[in-house]
Amino acid sequence: MDKEVQIGNLKVKVLRDTCIGAASCVAFAPTVFQLDDERKAVVIEGANETAEIIMMAAQSCPVKAIILTDATTGEQVWPN
Ligand code: SF4
Repeated sequence: MDKEVQIGNLKVKVLRDTCIGAASCVAFAPTVFQLDDERKAVVIEGANETAEIIMMAAQSCPVKAIILTDATTGEQVWPN
């Protein structure tokens, strides 16, 4: 099961099976995403970043492997 990390009001999750290690999320938000030993993006525990930057990073993913959910409403905000 893919781990979900809450940052501010966003819950951030990377679909490991979908991620191709393109690392554009890391380029946009290096404080939030890093590549692990298998070159899959993982969300850094305790990361602190704005929703705008996290959204830009998610939108930059060529395979839409980053799922963002509004922690208050439970609504998926990306991909939408
Ligand atoms: S941009 Fe997408 S495919 Fe690339 S490392 Fe991040 S989550 Fe994986």
